[in-house]
Amino acid sequence: MLPHVLVLGGTTEARELATALAGRPGTRVTTSLAGRVRRPGEVPGDLRVGGFGGAEGLAAWLRERRVDAVADATHPFAGTITANAARAAAATGVPLVVLRRPGWRPGPGDRWHPVPSLAAAADLLPRLGRRVFLTTGRLGLAAFAHLTEPHFVIRSVEPPEPPLPAHTDILLARGPFTVADETALLRDHRIDVLVTKDSGGAATSAKLTAARDLALPVVVVQRPPLPAGVTPAADVPSALHALDALARP
Ligand code: NAP
Repeated sequence: MLPHVLVLGGTTEARELATALAGRPGTRVTTSLAGRVRRPGEVPGDLRVGGFGGAEGLAAWLRERRVDAVADATHPFAGTITANAARAAAATGVPLVVLRRPGWRPGPGDRWHPVPSLAAAADLLPRLGRRVFLTTGRLGLAAFAHLTEPHFVIRSVEPPEPPLPAHTDILLARGPFTVADETALLRDHRIDVLVTKDSGGAATSAKLTAARDLALPVVVVQRPPLPAGVTPAADVPSALHALDALARP
């Protein structure tokens, strides 16, 4: 039995995991959100919102709330909270399961340019195109703000904040997106290069298929590395399986 599981959330998988755990008799699940999104939607079980105050704050929270296991189901690019979860788990002895959807892999016909950071993506862009579809999310856009030549079409769920590049159109939209819609968007905006994070998953992968079909180059920002020694579960059933294994005496 794991009477109290803390799910570090902010993803679809976190919500699915919390739903599965909340349906188990004798298990209490608390989902933690950073508080970046104004209306996060229904969350099963208990909800807490806001930072813990670093790894030490998280460790204190785990002790005070008598947490039996932590499931880190945060986004692959939320590297700080993932590192903090690993440190807090090590400090308290509370077991940790990391749920991380696999990254995307290029296929035949793809013209991908992997880069280690948003700054590296910005460095590369002027050599690849003049009309950019930027889908890396609303945070971190300052890395592109100094680029005055290319025209940017920026898509995000909530409005991005300045500084932004000089020539920018904003599209507010939340996935999932279809290949037909993504192809139409790339054509309508005369896009000649796509920038994405390697988020993985199906909800936002249609743009990659559309870019391949149109033979467009794609700048792919690579994920931050997982903490040493962490072997992630790739999907919700695997994470539940790993939690079950912890619960066995
Ligand atoms: P981050 O850089 O790894 O975390 C920055 C700080 O935010 C952490 O140190 C922590 O503050 C707080 N935090 C992050 N996730 C939290 C959570 N689930 N519960 C409580 N506090 C949390 O994270 P981020 O990239 O800003 O992402 C924030 C949240 O948005 C994550 O939960 C993630 O799952 C979600 N998200 C991120 C992306 C992305 O591209 N980065 C995309 C979609 C969703 P303290 O140190 O004070 O504890």
